[in-house]
Parts: sequence; C-alpha cells; structure tokens
Amino acid sequence: MECKDIIRLMEELAPVRYACDWDNVGLLVGSQNKKVQRLMLALDPSEDVIDQAVREGVDMLITHHPLIFGSIKRVNSNDITGRKILKLIKNDISYYAAHTNLDSAVMADEAGKMFGLVNTNILSEEYSENLYKLCTFVPVSHALKVRDAMTREGAGHIGEYSNCTFNVEGIGTFKPLEGTNPYIGKINETANAQEMRIEVTVQKDKLDRVIKAMLKVHPYEEVAYDIYKLENEIDRKGIGIRGYIDNDMTLEEFAMKVKQVLKADTVRMCGDPVKKVVKIAVCPGSGKSVVEDALKAKVDVLVSGDIDHHKALEAWEQGMAVIDAGHFITEYFVVDYLRDYLIDKIYNTDEDLYANSVKLEIIKAEEKEPFSYIR
Ligand SMILES: [Zn+2]
Repeated sequence: MECKDIIRLMEELAPVRYACDWDNVGLLVGSQNKKVQRLMLALDPSEDVIDQAVREGVDMLITHHPLIFGSIKRVNSNDITGRKILKLIKNDISYYAAHTNLDSAVMADEAGKMFGLVNTNILSEEYSENLYKLCTFVPVSHALKVRDAMTREGAGHIGEYSNCTFNVEGIGTFKPLEGTNPYIGKINETANAQEMRIEVTVQKDKLDRVIKAMLKVHPYEEVAYDIYKLENEIDRKGIGIRGYIDNDMTLEEFAMKVKQVLKADTVRMCGDPVKKVVKIAVCPGSGKSVVEDALKAKVDVLVSGDIDHHKALEAWEQGMAVIDAGHFITEYFVVDYLRDYLIDKIYNTDEDLYANSVKLEIIKAEEKEPFSYIR
C-alpha cells in the first residue's frame, strides 16, 4: 500500500472538510507516494513517539494531535518542532494528522456510546453544508439516460433513499444561430422540443462530478441547466455530544461511572455530589471551548478534560457540574478505534482491494497520561 491509500481510508472516515478553520490536518510531513509496510498510530506526536517510530522502522505515523499548528519560518534542530520534523524527514516517515475532523466524525458519537447516551445531539456545531438543486432540460427520449448518469454520481440521495428525482414534461423553445450544430431544429428557426425537466438534489462535493456526467450523455450542444443553493442544511457535524442517561444518578455516582468507563486513575468533579444528573454532555479532549454551548443546552454535567478553575466555577455557578477526567484519557480510545477501523477496511473488505499488497502492519505507539498524581 502507499501512503495515499491510507490517507484515502482516513478521509473516508474523517473528511478534512470537517476540521475547524484554525486546525491543521492532513499529510503534514513526507510523501504521499511512500510505500507503507509498517504504520504507527498515536495520540500525540511527542518526541518519544517519533523515536519509537524510528526504532520500529515505520513508514508512516498517524497522530490525533497535529505536530504543526501555526506557520513555521524555519526547520532546524534548535527547537522541538524542528527537531521532530527533521527526524521524520531523515527517517523517511510520512506523517499524517487527523484532529478536529476526527473529533467531529468519530469521537463525539463514540463518546456518547461509551456513556450510553440516548436522544443525542451535537454539542457544538462546527460544520454543516448547504444542499444544492440541479435542474436540467432534456429531450424526453434521453431523459432516462441523463437521469441515470446523474444519480450514478450520487445525485438525488435523501437520507436512506437513492435515485430521488422529480420529472415534469414541457415544451422547450430555442433558435439555433449561425455556426451552431443543433441536435433538434434548424439554423435561424425557432424550434419547439418536447423536453423533460429533471430535478435532483446534490451535495456540494458531488456537484462537479454530477454536472460532468450529465453533460457527457446530454444530446444538446448547449445544455441548459440551473444550480440552486438551498437553505436545507445537511451533514451537521461538531465537537462533543449531548444526550440523556437512562436512569438518573447522583453526580458522584456518574463521576464513578466515568472513571470506570475510561479506566481513569482519577477524575475531578466540580458540583454538588448528591445532585441528580440525567442530561449529559461529553467532549473528549479539551472542553473549555464547549462550556458555553453546554450551559446553553442546560445539561446537568459536562464530562471533558482541560477544564480550568475559572471555567469550572463559572459553570457551577450557573447550575452545570463539570467532570474533568483529563485530556489524554478522554481521547485515547480513538487510537484503538483507528486501528480497528483500518484493519477492518484493509483486511475485512469484500472487495479485497489490497490483496496484492504486502501485508501492512499496524502498531500502536506506547503512550501514557503525561500527568501523574501524588496523593
Ligand atoms: Zn485532544
């Protein structure tokens, strides 16, 4: 397999368009054409993880947190980021990061499942896209062909239904001018044609493909088609999840559940230990930025990491408890998730796409919670 094959699988799972504007995701170091026989997965691109990647002779490293965030003016061994980049380049390791796109695509839902949340919703919406409508006018004789070409490229997909189109017959008029080569009609004479107006909805990322496919089979020299941007929003994604637990618990009982589910050594909580909690928000990683959204949603408790003193106090004063289980432990599950996902995609696929490639070995870096506690 090549690095780009793995990137394709990663982006089927977590499309780059889901990433927050401030984020930096994708192939950050190395070549996408690099042959990959050993792949390492980790949460953090720490120097220790990169050293492990070098020792293990991996060809590609994927981490959740990106090694490079802001702009870099120089890459030298005087600073820690430069040193890491140099090490990756010297050892010909392609390095890829999937951060907030992975948060939106996977982590929120998985966190909801881990805590058994029901009636869930996105906690902090970061991404949605407008749907488009494409209408074209085609001689009735070619309607089926044009319709098929558009739906084959993914137009007309609504929920669990595909091939959704609307068709109405009418009369199209046009006058071919000098220099044209009309499919119907004569030069300088107004023609009437029995046409079908075909309407389909299309997602933005499929629009170009659908138009190209439609033009390819449409018999007219000049194809009339309209594109409308709709108010309908689809593909809503975001950071964190909120929902309800089946049976209410006290804050302390729920904090104990969080500790068990995450296999955390310790969790911190801010709030009244005997208060009943039923409406829960979970944001793996750093939850500071979602405190306001959780307050707006009137959840009883927010489970996250990296909540500072002031934020926790502000939340408590407004009736929302906070359970801080730590940034590392609330996110680490995603490394196992990615490993299972890639193995499943590469080895359990019916298509056997990678049958002829050398068996890819996927290894996890050894990582642990960076903070330790002295009691
Ligand atoms: Zn994180």
